[in-house]
Amino acid sequence: MDRFEETAGVGPGDASELCDACGALVAVGKAAVLWVSDSSAVGTDGRSDGERLLRACGERHLAWLAVRYRRRPFVPEELWAGQITRAVRLLGPLDDEEMYERVIEMTGLDEERLIRAVAWQDSHGRPSGAGPGA
Ligand SMILES: [Zn+2]
Repeated sequence: MDRFEETAGVGPGDASELCDACGALVAVGKAAVLWVSDSSAVGTDGRSDGERLLRACGERHLAWLAVRYRRRPFVPEELWAGQITRAVRLLGPLDDEEMYERVIEMTGLDEERLIRAVAWQDSHGRPSGAGPGA
């Protein structure tokens, strides 16, 4: 028997991930993963905006998660609103005019999209996760 096996994979840092469905710890590389479209997914660097990586302990939980995300409508305005929020956070305090110009610059959104995103935000002002049936 190889005693090294017991500690292998339990190194510092990202040795394990959490199942998005049940929260079980899954060793890195063992998780079942799937990219899904999600207009509420806005990362820190913009490389995977609109996409979410689902991680699960197995195919059953992955399938369950995938079904939930498939039911969720993809709303472009929601994605744009998230990108604007991220830009505003990164830019910090600015006067309105400068903020407006820098946000357009950072997000690449045109004025029409910006207006639609702000309108969407206003009508969905609650934090995400409004609860079942909402
Ligand atoms: Zn699970």
